[in-house]
Amino acid sequence: MTTKPSASLAPAEVGNDPRDVTGTDLLFRLEGVSRTYRTDASFFRRHHVDALRSVDLDIFRGEVLTLVGQSGSGKSTLGRIVARLIRASSGRVWFGDTDVNSLRGRALRNYRRRVGIVFQDPYASLNPRMRVGAALAEPLRVWKVVDGRKIDQEVARLLDSVAIPQHYVDRYPHALSGGERQRVAIARALASRPEVLVADEAVSALDVASAAEILNLLLDLHAELRLTVLFATHDLGAARVLADRIAVMQHGEIVEIGPAADILGQATHPYTRELLEAELHLPSSQT
Ligand code: ADP
Ligand code: MG
Repeated sequence: MTTKPSASLAPAEVGNDPRDVTGTDLLFRLEGVSRTYRTDASFFRRHHVDALRSVDLDIFRGEVLTLVGQSGSGKSTLGRIVARLIRASSGRVWFGDTDVNSLRGRALRNYRRRVGIVFQDPYASLNPRMRVGAALAEPLRVWKVVDGRKIDQEVARLLDSVAIPQHYVDRYPHALSGGERQRVAIARALASRPEVLVADEAVSALDVASAAEILNLLLDLHAELRLTVLFATHDLGAARVLADRIAVMQHGEIVEIGPAADILGQATHPYTRELLEAELHLPSSQT
């Protein structure tokens, strides 16, 4: 369980797996990852929640892996563990030969620079009192991404990459539409030039048209920047647009995983079928 994955093992394994449709390069390996949350202890209530139960998962460089499951199935917990916003209670998270759980100090800062995160609510990543330009300049300065004199130029480039007009630099987040706000949040997440983007319900709060635009933007960025994307959604419609592979989660476990077309077309697990049927009954979630 605790031996780190060897570089030579991963590609051979991928090549031998006929279901694999993505790359050959193992980026993350999760081994028996569990996460328990302590809750208010009282005589009648449980003292903890098992949010993740011994999850094994490989994530390949350059793929879009979409986590699908109902609310409470453990998607955010998994995303937060990969982004190392929280730690696993047990198990290992390998990023190459780095044990993510044990990162501290400078190494942890470096890791966070390489893994961007976007949330459902852009206000979770955007300070309402900070203008768009300042919000994008801040991470550039903190991470020393570019020379101080080139920050404005880099802000302009970031705005361009998410199709936000340049004059928005002076606007506050509240003066943006939901979709625009999410674009700025994505630009901020990309400021450190991460290799990985964790997008947790990134389109769930948006109207259908804006959601489709953001999904397409994520697809473009993924292709352009060769980003590895871990996308969590309760909406199968979004997974249809943005997924190379889909992992279906239920009660803190991955119950089914495979290429998106297989999962959406010929799901074998009863819970996945249930999700698919529920989707068909909701016209608004069809794409
Ligand atoms: P999802 O993103 O799929 O909705 P989460 O990972 O947010 O699922 O939650 C998984 C389980 O863990 C749920 O039962 C949820 O109530 C619980 N949980 C999540 N975060 C916390 C927390 N900070 N404290 C206590 N319980 C939590
Ligand atoms: Mg969630």
